[in-house]
Amino acid sequence: MNKDAKIYVAGHRGLVGSAILRKLQADGYTNLVYKTSQELDLRDRNQVDRFFEEEKPEYVFLAAAKVGGIVANNEYPADFIRDNLMIQTNVIDAAYRNGVKKLLFLGSTCIYPKFAPQPLKEEYLLTGELEPTNEPYAIAKIAGIKMCQSYNRQYGTKYISVMPTNLYGPNDNFDLHTSHVLPALIRKFHEAKENNAPYVEVWGTGTPRREFLYSDDLADACVFLMNNYEGNEIVNVGVGEDISIKELAEKIKNIVGYKGEIKFDTTKPDGTPRKLVDVSKINALGWKASISLEEGLQKAYQWFLDNVAVKT
Ligand code: GDP
Repeated sequence: MNKDAKIYVAGHRGLVGSAILRKLQADGYTNLVYKTSQELDLRDRNQVDRFFEEEKPEYVFLAAAKVGGIVANNEYPADFIRDNLMIQTNVIDAAYRNGVKKLLFLGSTCIYPKFAPQPLKEEYLLTGELEPTNEPYAIAKIAGIKMCQSYNRQYGTKYISVMPTNLYGPNDNFDLHTSHVLPALIRKFHEAKENNAPYVEVWGTGTPRREFLYSDDLADACVFLMNNYEGNEIVNVGVGEDISIKELAEKIKNIVGYKGEIKFDTTKPDGTPRKLVDVSKINALGWKASISLEEGLQKAYQWFLDNVAVKT
C-alpha cells in the first residue's frame, strides 16, 4: 500500500478496527476512510453500495462484525449468523464491483473444529464438527473465507483472510453478559476489589485453555499481511502459547491487586477445551507477536481504568 492509498477500515470503533486504524496512522498512511455504524449500516446493501461508489477505496480492512463471548453467542445465535453474513457479503461484493485492489477479511479461530489437533493449523478448516456454542458465528466466518477464496478464483481478486486467536485491548467489550473472558475478568476483579467482595466468580471449570493476542499485535500483523501476503489460503495470527482460564484469572487478580478468593461457576459452559493456533505460517512469512501477556494485561487494565471504570 502506498502511504497515500485510499484505505477503508470497516469497524474502526471496535477492538480490531480501532487497532488497525491506530497502526495505519502511526505508519503514516494519510488517506483513511471510516464510518460509524450510525453513519453507515453495513447490513444494508444499498448503503454499502453508495459508500463504495462515492469513496472508491483501494484497500479494505474488513474488521466490522457482530462479536461476543460464549453466553452472548449462545443466546443470540440468529443475530450472530445474520449480521455477520450480511456485513461481509455486502462489503466483499461491493469491494469486487468497485475494483478494490486488496481486501483483508478477519475471521476467528472458532472456525476450526472443536476437537481438531492442537496447535490449530490452517489446513484443519472444515475437517470436523464445530463447537456448538458459537457455531452460527463460525459458519458466517467460514462463509466469509470461502467467499474471499471464491472471488479470487472466479474474478481474480486479491482477498486474504486472517484468523486471529482470542483478542483483547483498547475498545474491548467489558459488558459482563456479552464480553469475552479476559475483559470480563478485568472488570470482575476490579469491581470485587472496589467493593471488598469476598470472592470472584469465574465461569466454567477453569481448565479450558486459551491463547490471548493484544489487538495492537494483530493490527501490526494485518498491515504486514496486506503488504506482504498474496496467497489464497487463510493465515493464523497468535502468540503461539496458551494458558488455562484458572491461570488467566490468577494473573488478572494479581495485576488488579485483589486479595479475595476465586470460585468456579460450573453451571456456565466451558466451551471448546483448547484453542491454540499454529503460527508457523505467519512466522515463516516474517512476522511474530511482540507484546507479552503481562505487558498486554497491564495496558488493558489501564485502559479499563481510564475509559470504563471512570464512567461506571
Ligand atoms: P470462547 O473462547 O469462544 O469460549 O469465549 P469466551 O472468551 O467467552 O470464554 C472462554 C472461556 O472462559 C470459557 O471456558 C468461559 O466459560 C470462561 N470464562 C470464565 N469466566 C468468564 C467470564 O466472566 N466471561 C466469559 N465470557 N467467559 C468466562
